[in-house]
Amino acid sequence: MNVSAHIEAVYAEVQRRNPGEAEFHQAAAEVLESLAPALEQHPEYVESGILERLCEPERQLMFRVPWVDDQGAVRVNRGFRVEFNSALGPYKGGLRFHPSVNLGIVKFLGFEQIFKNALTGMGIGGGKGGSDFDPKGRSDAEIMRFCQSFMTELYRHLGEHTDVPAGDIGVGGREIGYLFGQYKRITNRYESGVLTGKPVGWGGSHARTEATGYGAVYFAQEMLATRGEDFDGRRVVVSGSGNVAVYAVEKVHALGGRVVACSDSTGYLVDEDGIDLELLKEVKEVRRARLSAYAEARPTARFSTRGTVYDLACDVALPCATQNELGREDAVALVKNGVRAVAEGANMPCTPEAVEVFREAGVLFGPGKAANAGGVATSGLEMRQNAARDTWSFEETESRLAQVMRDVHTECRATAEAYGTDADDYVLGANVAGFLKVAEAMQAQGVI
Ligand code: GLU
Repeated sequence: MNVSAHIEAVYAEVQRRNPGEAEFHQAAAEVLESLAPALEQHPEYVESGILERLCEPERQLMFRVPWVDDQGAVRVNRGFRVEFNSALGPYKGGLRFHPSVNLGIVKFLGFEQIFKNALTGMGIGGGKGGSDFDPKGRSDAEIMRFCQSFMTELYRHLGEHTDVPAGDIGVGGREIGYLFGQYKRITNRYESGVLTGKPVGWGGSHARTEATGYGAVYFAQEMLATRGEDFDGRRVVVSGSGNVAVYAVEKVHALGGRVVACSDSTGYLVDEDGIDLELLKEVKEVRRARLSAYAEARPTARFSTRGTVYDLACDVALPCATQNELGREDAVALVKNGVRAVAEGANMPCTPEAVEVFREAGVLFGPGKAANAGGVATSGLEMRQNAARDTWSFEETESRLAQVMRDVHTECRATAEAYGTDADDYVLGANVAGFLKVAEAMQAQGVI
């Protein structure tokens, strides 16, 4: 059997059937390119059309979200939920509210989520959703009305055993609260496990807010340890300044490293003394302001609108902003400046060309499916607590998160060794390890 020809044919069909969805094509290609060694060992997966079925979402929902702004004007946005794969459990994945959201973006994110969720070992399928709604500059009342309208359509597709959304860009504890309230009101059920990322105090898990950022740092720590290195005294750059970035900064500092830069959509901030976490949280989480406000409050820091954080010398880079933010030139600059490890806190922040530069230079590279799995893994822990009507302490939850990240790291390396030639090939390891779990379940469940 010619496995490569099969993979190429599946990819050609993905492109034909999903025209114009560049990010989805990119995410599909990245996984498919890794799978030849797995299919050589499992020809039955070719015969039963596992790849063809994996690349076609089980269900794609698109709906109108009408709402009224503070001036009384009617607004219309588009809502999405792509229920991609339920072989391992209920669809699970975040909601993204951002003007760039379209079907192709949601599909790329949902596709990634299948393998990421499989890697966590938590029994969760893959899905993703969101809207092209732009929360920037919107009042609290507008956010609430939007969330209520969004859930008024989406609720019929959800359920703690069916589909469990959470947050992503533009969706945090406040939005999850409004979404949960409307779900509860419509269904007349206090179904705690239908959404994760709830505030602690009414069903949320300790450490969920911190989990993605902490998890990415744990993953980078594991990668560094394979070379006898750690974060102590290391110079680190982080992109983004949202939830993932903030808690990545916090954990790097706790491990003795120094984060000297982070960014937002308007530019980047350099603070050679190390980012002041209290000030960063104040600016981003309390004032919901731009990052430039940090530099105004701290004269030793500078805010720049030219270049990127990747122009700075660093030992470790943690891209935590958004897809395709780190291109070939950024990767070349990082390598030239001596970067040792890169771990993706965001979903697909590095372009394929950038990943190739890291590979050629022997830089440790942790792909998002593995490195940012801590967020959804802790959502899995939140679902467990909800199902048991239990609450674990911060320490207990964080130690379980750390264990999941260690396990994901170990599994990636073991799979990369077994199916490839290099244990450092975390891309191959993550894709094949995630794929094998999903494929085994799909095979056992028949052609559905
Ligand atoms: N949006 C996050 C991710 O990309 C978390 C999803 C979740 O907790 O369900 O993995």
